[in-house]
This record gives sequence, C-alpha cells and structure tokens, in this order.
Amino acid sequence: MQLDLRTLFTVLVILYACLGFVCLFLPYRMPGSHAVTQWGYGLLALAAGLGGLALHGAVPDFISVIVANALILVTFLFVLGSVRQGRGAGSSGFGWSVVGVSVLLLAYFTYMHPDTRIRIVIASVAMALLVVRPVIALIAAVPGVSRRARIFTAVCLAGVGLVMLVRALLTTKWGANVDLLAPNFVQFASNLLFGAFTVLATLGVVWIEIEQLRADLARLAMIDPLTAILNRRAFMLEYEREISRCTREKIGIALAIFDIDHFKRVNDTYGHLVGDQVLRRVADTLRASLRGHDVLGRYGGEEFALLMPGADTAAALAGTERARLAVGERPIRSGELSIPVTLSAGVAVYGANGTDWESLLRSADAALYEAKRAGRNRVVAAHGAPL
Ligand code: GH3
Ligand code: MG
Ligand code: MG
Repeated sequence: MQLDLRTLFTVLVILYACLGFVCLFLPYRMPGSHAVTQWGYGLLALAAGLGGLALHGAVPDFISVIVANALILVTFLFVLGSVRQGRGAGSSGFGWSVVGVSVLLLAYFTYMHPDTRIRIVIASVAMALLVVRPVIALIAAVPGVSRRARIFTAVCLAGVGLVMLVRALLTTKWGANVDLLAPNFVQFASNLLFGAFTVLATLGVVWIEIEQLRADLARLAMIDPLTAILNRRAFMLEYEREISRCTREKIGIALAIFDIDHFKRVNDTYGHLVGDQVLRRVADTLRASLRGHDVLGRYGGEEFALLMPGADTAAALAGTERARLAVGERPIRSGELSIPVTLSAGVAVYGANGTDWESLLRSADAALYEAKRAGRNRVVAAHGAPL
C-alpha cells in the first residue's frame, strides 16, 4: 500500500467538508437546537485546517502550520458546543486556553526553534485534551437522549483522543524536522483512524439530534398549545398512571372538573382573542394553585380537569375550592380590560363515585351541572362521595 499522506489529507478534506455541509443543511433540526449545526461548523473548520496542512511547503508556514492547526483545534470547541446543546452551551475557558497555548507553542516551534516532531506532539496532545470535556458532557445525562446514543458518540470522540495520544507517543521517536507529509505509517494510520472516528461521531451527533427531536415532538404532542398545560390525551395517560399508583399504594384519588361560568359572554363581549387570553390566565392560576402530585389538564374548550392523588372527599373539596377562589378572587386583566371570571366545579372520588373513567367523569359532570344550577361560582361534591 502506498502511504501517500497528501492524497489521504485531500480525501479527508473532501469527506469532512461534505459531512459539514450535510450537517448544516440537515432538515431534521428543531428550532433552538444547534447541535448538528455546531458540529457542521466544526467539520468545516477541520476540513479547512487539514487542507492547510496538506499545502505545507506550497504556502507560507503561517498558513500551513499556525492557521491550519488553529482551525483543527477550534473544531473541538465546536464539538463541545455541539454536545452541550440542551444543557446550556456555556463558555469554554479551558478549551480556548488549550487552543491559545498550543498556537503559541506551535509558533515557537515553527519560527524560533523549528521542530516538526514537537509540533505534531503539541497538536496531538491538545486534541486529546480537548475531547475530554465533550466526552464528559456526553456521559452525563442529556435530556431526551438515550444512554446508547450518548455512549456511542462519547466512545467515538474518546477514540479520536486516544488515536491522538498514541500518535503523540509514537511521534516522539521521530527525528526533528522530518516532513509531516513524507510516507509514514504512524501519520497515515492516525489520520485514517481519526477520520473513521470522526465519521462515526458525526453519525452519533445526528442520532442524538434525532432523539432530541423525537423527545421534543412527544412533549409537544402532550401539551395544549393555548394554555401550555396537559392536553386531554396526556391527561388521560396521567390519569391511568395515577390510578394504578394510588390503587397499588391503597390511597384515595379524586377528580374535579372545572367549567368557566358564562364564558360565551366573554367571547361575545370581548372577542375570541380576549377569550383565549382569559383561558390562558385561568390555566396559569389553576396551575399555580396545585399541590405536589396534582395533575391539571385542559379537558375541553373552557373545561379543566384536576386529578388529586391521595385526596379524600374533604381534601379534594378543599383543593378544588382553593383553585376556584384563586381564579375568582381578582378579575383577569387583558390590556385595558378587567374581566371578572368565576368557575364552577364538580368533584368525584375514585371508588365511591366509580372505578372506571366513564363513571367517575359522569359523577363529576353531574356535580358540575348541580353547581351551575345552584347559581355557579361554587364547588359541589358528587352524590355518594364519602364525607
Ligand atoms: P356556563 O356558565 O353554563 O358554562 O356558560 P358558558 O357560556 O360558559 O357555556 P359553555 O360552557 O357551554 O361555553 C363554552 C364556550 O367556550 C363556547 C365556546 O365558544 C367557548 N370556547 C371553547 N373553546 C374555546 C377556545 O379555545 N377559545 C375561546 N376563546 N373560546 C372557547
Ligand atoms: Mg363548557
Ligand atoms: Mg362554561
């Protein structure tokens, strides 16, 4: 096999550039998530840096050594930015320091005391140091990302670091000022392995991005877009979960259904946009009045469902009353408007009022109807709820 480093560098430059552009134009990116974008910039910096190295001898050392190596090292800052997505990008003082010190040392061993061998060792050790933090960030939990995807990517990046450490060790055996691009097994193998691990790590980052996208979509599918509380589907899932938990732990659970009083009038008087704003404020106030395990959902148009695990009738009535008062105690402000809003609610207790969703809901609905009939702005317990 002919170990032509210039050819290998050229192939790798094309590979990194193509991968970089693919990352930048990848269609499945969530707004706000820039993991793959940062990775793409990193790959482009790597391609440019390696291109600079390949031009050694044809362009001034400043370009082929200093700028080229600086670009290659900056790649790792993008890598850190990429894997930190979703955990707050943060600044990388350590990374910039490693890059800065390395560039100064490279300049020294280029102009003051030229030594290719030491330059390769410096750049390799710097790269090995720079992968440590991305690897640690990946091993720590990243929201919405599976352990497999994180560990796969971490191992690929650690592979890059390991290859660079071995390259540094083996290069120390070189004589000074040997040509980096002369046929040399250590440089050829280390660049090839670096390339292989980089391609695999790119797949890992795309894998992470897809998982984050899936987690975001799953979350969005659970949230009511207007009020940002659980939608009906998500509420039902929580209901199933809480019912099994409470049955297992032999504790009570109660359901309250709230309905805004005369909400049609709000829409008719102020328009639907103000009506929507009122719905949002009511949801916010209800959410603020919840206790630890309570689950709130938007059950229908202007109907909210509240699940109270661990609550008997008295506790459920107290919790529902507190929520009703929280909404009713002061009018909702919308621009110049001040709109008084009251709620009626019906409360049903699991067991006494039913042991399946339909019967429990029917009991809570009947109690809500009674609250409306009795004049609204009140909470009524379902018939048969033990007092
Ligand atoms: P009641 O006291 O008997 O409950 O009287 P009501 O006027 O509130 O009657 P009802 O509960 O039947 O009213 C439901 C109204 O809620 C009708 C519908 O226009 C309105 N609504 C439902 N969903 C939305 C929504 O997303 N936005 C707005 N602005 N209005 C909604
Ligand atoms: Mg209604
Ligand atoms: Mg209503």
